[in-house]
Amino acid sequence: MHPDPVIIADRLKKTYGDIAAVDGISFSVEAGTVFGFLGPNGAGKTTTMRMIQCVSPRSGGDLCVFGLDPAEQPRMIKQWLGVVPQETNLDPEFTCFENLMVYSRYFGIPKREAAERVEELLAFVALTEKRDVKIEHLSGGMKRRLLLARALVNQPRMLILDEPTIGLDPQARHLMWEKLRELRAAGNTIVLTTHYLEEAERLCDRLVIMDNGAILVEGAPGELVERYVGSDIVEAERKPEVIACLDEMGVRYDIVGDMVEAMTPDPREVARRLFETCNPGRVFVRRATLEDVFLQLTGRNLKE
Ligand code: ATP
Repeated sequence: MHPDPVIIADRLKKTYGDIAAVDGISFSVEAGTVFGFLGPNGAGKTTTMRMIQCVSPRSGGDLCVFGLDPAEQPRMIKQWLGVVPQETNLDPEFTCFENLMVYSRYFGIPKREAAERVEELLAFVALTEKRDVKIEHLSGGMKRRLLLARALVNQPRMLILDEPTIGLDPQARHLMWEKLRELRAAGNTIVLTTHYLEEAERLCDRLVIMDNGAILVEGAPGELVERYVGSDIVEAERKPEVIACLDEMGVRYDIVGDMVEAMTPDPREVARRLFETCNPGRVFVRRATLEDVFLQLTGRNLKE
């Protein structure tokens, strides 16, 4: 038996004047899972997070977080949430330790208990060495990890992360992913937004792809790739002979710049036929990704 979902949204809507930033979306998030909102800038991801966090009232539809209505019991919901916002809003005047201690006061955690927890959290995000360093002396990745530690101060029932690795270099991004995977392994419920496909693929148990305020699809990353694209992509140079050969085989393909991308569960056979029947030039076989799903659904690339 499944536990009750932690979030249930039904035709959830947010309008700003004539703009429907979130246009009637429905989804639910199960406890102990990582649920992602993937989409380009302006898709409505942040607006959705803000409604869940009880900082932006909805314009329509229903929303239920921990079984409660954000319009009626925002304080209760907020106390059970840990939030990593998109902007770094740490206090620059304070050290890492002080930032977390100040935050723990909002939740009324006794000082000694808070200090103990803060030390543990600094260790968890690999910032013990920076304990007494002011925020301005931290790298972008360190600031993000400190925000993660801060979001965990109140031992939340659910973590919300808005673009957790935006602007980070690959190494800092991987470290953040490692921490999030550790939290997932410990059974935490995590909701995140991202426009990085790799991030969504690596972290999410389930996700929705959003565009223009609407949910296009929902599913597990691998399931979506399987459903909309198939398992593999054969890429070949865009030549009339290549296209004719794919047409003859009845293989689906997209034209992306000067390449043709064919979707097939049997990439070896497609590549073999291309080599045999025409002079295809460069040919690559790669795993299909969520990028290909996004392209199928919207006709656009979701650029990182
Ligand atoms: P990003 O990652 O860039 O924040 P997003 O998917 O989170 O993208 P939102 O920030 O939720 O997208 O924005 C969705 C739409 O709503 C955009 O068209 C945006 O311009 C609009 N919007 C968001 N907040 C406001 C606001 N306070 N007033 C007016 N329009 C807004």
